[in-house]
Amino acid sequence: MDGFSAEELFTNEKGLTYNDFIILPGYIDFSPDDVNLESNLTRNIRIKSPLVSSPMDTVTESNMAIGLALLGGIGIIHYNNTIEEQVNEVRKVKRFENGFITDPIVLSPGNTIADIDAIKEKYGFSGIPITENGRLNSLLLGIVTNRDIDFETERTKKLSEVMTTDLLTAKKGISLQQANQILRNSKKGKLPIVDGEGRLVALMSRNDLLKNREYPSASKDRHKQLMAGAAVSTRDESRERLAALVEAGVDVVVIDSAQGNSVYQIEMIKYTKKTYPDLSVIAGNIVTENQCELLIKAGADGLRIGMGPGSICTTQTTMSVGRAQATAVYKTARFSRKHGVPVIADGGISTIGHIAKALALGASTVMMGSMFAGTHEAPGEYFYENGVRLKKYRGMASQEALEAGGTKRYFAEDTKIKVVQGVSGSVVDKGSLFDYVPYLLQGLRHSFQDIGTREMKILHDKLHSGELRFELRSPSAQMEGGVHDMYTYKEPKYM
Ligand code: GDP
Ligand code: GDP
Ligand code: 5GP
Repeated sequence: MDGFSAEELFTNEKGLTYNDFIILPGYIDFSPDDVNLESNLTRNIRIKSPLVSSPMDTVTESNMAIGLALLGGIGIIHYNNTIEEQVNEVRKVKRFENGFITDPIVLSPGNTIADIDAIKEKYGFSGIPITENGRLNSLLLGIVTNRDIDFETERTKKLSEVMTTDLLTAKKGISLQQANQILRNSKKGKLPIVDGEGRLVALMSRNDLLKNREYPSASKDRHKQLMAGAAVSTRDESRERLAALVEAGVDVVVIDSAQGNSVYQIEMIKYTKKTYPDLSVIAGNIVTENQCELLIKAGADGLRIGMGPGSICTTQTTMSVGRAQATAVYKTARFSRKHGVPVIADGGISTIGHIAKALALGASTVMMGSMFAGTHEAPGEYFYENGVRLKKYRGMASQEALEAGGTKRYFAEDTKIKVVQGVSGSVVDKGSLFDYVPYLLQGLRHSFQDIGTREMKILHDKLHSGELRFELRSPSAQMEGGVHDMYTYKEPKYM
């Protein structure tokens, strides 16, 4: 057979990066649209798009997590903030879309329009059911929606004076499908669900039907709420954080550590799995087979791979510990596969081709910071430098992030001298996630087509059987593979 199997490729004494090799083409008998990119984030969580955003304070808060989940990926909310702040971000993601809203915000007839204004300000919605005592499981009296109050100038008016009392409701026990049908037919914005005695037990929103239709690949839990991930550290503080995150409905936690093979991490995995057996736990970061073995044994449901490949990272230079990322991904994926634990290739991805290579080396998903940091949905404002529109992007162990409270990842909290392992800077404006991610995914489908593989499982089977063929690239092969011999040219908007 032409080329080399991954096993042969990685017997090389040198560590390889994504740029060091190329994938040889396969046979095409399908179109890019036939490619299914669905993959496992953890043992139990499957998502339609294999993209994960990094838990970094310039990358993932609720806007990023909502956008990515709608597009089939998932965002991991960072923890360089207070517990309340992080939980609030998770809550915004979980509340964004629903089937039955089982904990709707409710008011009583004695509340005022100003109370609704405050809810609108905090949560973004204003369709509020009114019950006798202002709580769930109390007699439903009416509903107030935007149309009842938008032209009302007197904001101190009681809700009893403005609420609609002629209500269409559905009975508890109705299926989501039946309730959706009532909502579609009713032309109303909300459908309250009541029990036999007329007490409110849940609420439904017509807008969720539209969101569901618009984003059919969205990553959702069984309540049709968007999935949200959150990062926690290995420190004791995390136990309190974890409890609050679970309460807010977090679907997966990432135990965030630059070197994940530690007694602290193992204790944290064990604690989390014992206390919340249904919660998916991603452990890391790691780069060797031995590390995989220990974390899998401790109970990890997914592994985060990468030590030092990140665009903002100085770990390998400063600590001299880490591994070239392509080698790290292949070795850990090969090992973890035997235990049914998926790996996430984290860091060092700067093109669609790198995503394809990470997946072709056995990763089930990829985690990216710099790729997403320039999008509209990343935290922070755009600014201009030399006429270029930029957004700030910084390592979580950069001087700046450490000063903002980000030492938790690096076992350095208590020391007086803080050794930085990252830099801060800026990345170019990428526009909206809703244009960018579909482009990335379509690029990936083309790559899968060129490889001759329609889905992730087949790709991984071919990788490990040796059917998938690779070749090393000499330095001049790498030059040849980029744009060359042009006097001028315009870079594509996305790569
Ligand atoms: P399943 O995999 O067979 O459960 O299919 P889906 O999850 O796609 O949808 C099951 C039912 O729930 C269908 O009637 C969908 O229209 C409905 N559904 C899916 N997502 C939402 C949502 O966010 N809100 C509402 N109200 N209904 C939804
Ligand atoms: P509203 O008409 O101002 O209430 O807002 P929309 O109907 O446009 O959107 C409400 C969105 O917020 C839907 O996607 C709901 O699923 C979501 N949501 C989450 N929690 C709640 C809640 O407690 N009450 C309401 N009304 N919506 C909620
Ligand atoms: P990127 O996608 O930008 O190449 O890399 C993002 C990844 O770099 C993150 O997911 C995280 O694993 C890692 N990372 C984030 N901040 C730092 C840092 O300050 N130092 C190091 N060594 N790695 C970081």
